[in-house]
Amino acid sequence: MKEQTAGTSPEDGAHGFNCRFCGTRLETTFVDLGMSPLCQTHIAESQLHEMEPFYPLHVYVCGSCFLVQLQQFVSPGEIFTEYAYFSSFSTSWVEHARRYAEMAIDRFRLGATSSVMEIASNDGYLLQHFVARGVPVLGIEPAANVAQAAVDKGIPTTVRFFGREAAQAIASGNGRPDLLLGNNVLAHVPDLNDFVGGMKLLLAPNGVITMEFPHLQRLMAENQFDTIYHEHFSYFSFVAVEKVFAHHGLTMFDVEELPTHGGSLRIFARHAENAAIEVGPRVHALRQRETDDGFLTLERYGGFSEQVKSTKRKLLTFLIEAKTRGKMVVGYGAPGKGNTLLNYCGIRTDFLDFTVDANPYKQGKYTPGTRIPILAPEAIREAKPDYVLILPWNLKDEISQAASYVRDWGGHFAVPIPKVNVF
Ligand SMILES: [Zn+2]
Repeated sequence: MKEQTAGTSPEDGAHGFNCRFCGTRLETTFVDLGMSPLCQTHIAESQLHEMEPFYPLHVYVCGSCFLVQLQQFVSPGEIFTEYAYFSSFSTSWVEHARRYAEMAIDRFRLGATSSVMEIASNDGYLLQHFVARGVPVLGIEPAANVAQAAVDKGIPTTVRFFGREAAQAIASGNGRPDLLLGNNVLAHVPDLNDFVGGMKLLLAPNGVITMEFPHLQRLMAENQFDTIYHEHFSYFSFVAVEKVFAHHGLTMFDVEELPTHGGSLRIFARHAENAAIEVGPRVHALRQRETDDGFLTLERYGGFSEQVKSTKRKLLTFLIEAKTRGKMVVGYGAPGKGNTLLNYCGIRTDFLDFTVDANPYKQGKYTPGTRIPILAPEAIREAKPDYVLILPWNLKDEISQAASYVRDWGGHFAVPIPKVNVF
């Protein structure tokens, strides 16, 4: 399946592009992070002498619906068909999934006659907890290599991108789910209307949808500009996402604020026609809070760019001072967010000797654009660096515990976001 890239898309003019939800011409910059390579295209040793494509990382906010978004330069087919991210490598994420499954089974009274489907089910890190409790599941995952890992664990998984066409095929082949969920997928969807329209088609009449995605309000409040990368097409406030769902006949009936990924929302939706489920107070409260905070005015989005530039200066100041004092600094992790940070700040092996990652798919490769070697975590024990810069700062507790041996030789950890913090 070959999808259109932005350059050939009919809605895309020579000087800009239109909102992927409402079609309004995008004119207001949210933040411009310059040119960056795709964050999952890790460089093999054999490619070190070749060029890499860089794309603008320029985020706009729609003046009409206030959806914050990035232009699509590459098709999801190119990004996600062989994806290197296996959710099961993060123990805290697997634990988050287990607690979610328990909550959902209790709250929605799911059992042996129910049906649970997950969009972007990855390696089955979440659905395995439903399977363990005897609830029938189906995973929907576009990356064939990741889906195979789920199937090997006994989790039925169909390999496909989700949208209206997939929804119809799944509904006729597998029925309609009582619980349809998708965690950290909504931001990755280029055709938002086709995706949410597909959920409307697939969901059982009395079914519920839950989705988790990073919350724009937290991204802005805590400087999480590094969570912006080409694979994340949209950045959602609650008021914007509620509008998108309402347009497709889906009503938000609850919302939770979660600490995951630096601050996420978990939204609960049902068919607009299903009045049996009342809209709870948290929906009204969050909508009011964001409205009072200005999220329905363009001015609210204006100060973010300067905040990002200031964060860059502070991180570089820390690194320059450390290197001037002759200290060794290495990275921990090679996540997508690390690549935005490293490329935007211009951090290469002049500052970080190497980084490490538990994912064997990344070991032996180099970070995109900045070409920092990615080694196995044991490399830290051998090199005994003075500072370990944790790139997936959302996992800083997990990582600083797992690598606490750094303290044995007087080493320290540092996180770059929300501001440089050495501990
Ligand atoms: Zn719009």
